[in-house]
Amino acid sequence: MATYDLVVRNARIVKPGQPIREGDIAVRNGVIVESDGVVSGDAAQTIDAAGSHVLPGVIDPHTHPGLVAPLDRRLPLESRGAAAGGVTTIVQYLRRPESYREAVPARRKAAEEHLLQDFAFHVTLLNRDHFDDIRMCIEDFGVTSFKIYMNSRMPLSERMRMDALPGQEVNDIAPVDYDDGFLLDAFRALAPYRGVRLNIHCENSDIAISETAKVVAAGRTGLTAWSDGRPAIGEAAAMHVAGVMSREYNVPLYIPHVGSREGIRAVEELRKLGTSLTVETCPHYLVLTDESSDTAKVAPPIRKEADQAAVLEALVRGDLNTLGSDEIPYTLEEKGMSTFWTENTAFSGCGLLLPVAISANLPLQLVAETTSAAPARAFGLEGKGSLDPGNDADLVIVDTESESQVRPQFLNSSSDFSVYDGMSLRGWPTVTISRGEVIFDRGRFPTAEGRGKYLFRSLATD
Ligand SMILES: [Zn+2]
Repeated sequence: MATYDLVVRNARIVKPGQPIREGDIAVRNGVIVESDGVVSGDAAQTIDAAGSHVLPGVIDPHTHPGLVAPLDRRLPLESRGAAAGGVTTIVQYLRRPESYREAVPARRKAAEEHLLQDFAFHVTLLNRDHFDDIRMCIEDFGVTSFKIYMNSRMPLSERMRMDALPGQEVNDIAPVDYDDGFLLDAFRALAPYRGVRLNIHCENSDIAISETAKVVAAGRTGLTAWSDGRPAIGEAAAMHVAGVMSREYNVPLYIPHVGSREGIRAVEELRKLGTSLTVETCPHYLVLTDESSDTAKVAPPIRKEADQAAVLEALVRGDLNTLGSDEIPYTLEEKGMSTFWTENTAFSGCGLLLPVAISANLPLQLVAETTSAAPARAFGLEGKGSLDPGNDADLVIVDTESESQVRPQFLNSSSDFSVYDGMSLRGWPTVTISRGEVIFDRGRFPTAEGRGKYLFRSLATD
């Protein structure tokens, strides 16, 4: 019997905070056993990675694959698109109006049947009845992160799209009416569970409603109008409300999709005040602006070049910590482009997280940190996010030099458009490995679908 199941040889190994060194990575039973030099001993499978970099597999902490039904046709495609992008762990948001008692196990089963990579869930709290599900989610389902949308006030969220359950051909639509009193009660409900995390979409609804009305009345459309209707001061204002409650109840925050100068300044202020938080930005804030195509309508909006520059600087400083795609893999038809103000927000992007981050010229060690190590830490994903021995052999071999143009038809997603269409990107994965098994190899997907494992998370005990 061979000493190792797999050895990746001659790789430029990228670990956060360390110089990039050339060496081998040896895998046994799906776990990394060596990654600090040249490995001797034979292997059942050898991959020569000479000339390429190896990074820890991408962890996308922010996806909404269930917002496009049906799961049995869409999940396999999104999983392939993600694998082609070096993604080895997908964290999915779940959003349902009723109790999660049946929804979480049903969605776990669907993901186990269709995903190539490992996965976990964040559960969205939409109403006070959901507070009764918190203990069950933590203890029975291993879900330790919850989500609240501060932008979901009527009439903004009169028709909120809900996650599909297995068998559903069309997504349910339900009304959601958020207010700050609900947020306060959510912090109270989560406070007894140490180590739980609350992910908050920070946008003040009142400001969005009143500013959008002005923009619409002026007859404006397009991404600049969209951005003016949801000004970044509304994001900053919401962050401070979330921050004061987080400090009061000792529930750490995760703030997704920060992409504005005002948002970054608020993050700095929250940290000065002692708030415990991890902050995410998204690939679209790194390379797009409000001059991009109308398909890039997303909340919070994509802003100006100065915001783009501020996001990159904040990642380098460590004020922004993780990258998440916030993907909803709509087709153009599902997105509904006939009128701008009714167009659905968001788009696909999970499979492009890594190439966009590398093409934005982030140092590779910082790419490894923000696309893998930091999300693993933030969400207690044990054995993930590191190339050090003892961790799951989730890794991606990347050609960081050659450039190619984004073409939606080559992204394997069920989405038929890309907000990055025509953009020249580098940093494309050649091989993606999950727990020692090759799940993507230069355009091929060698394993059967449905090998992904559910990541049951535990609250830290101390
Ligand atoms: Zn989202």
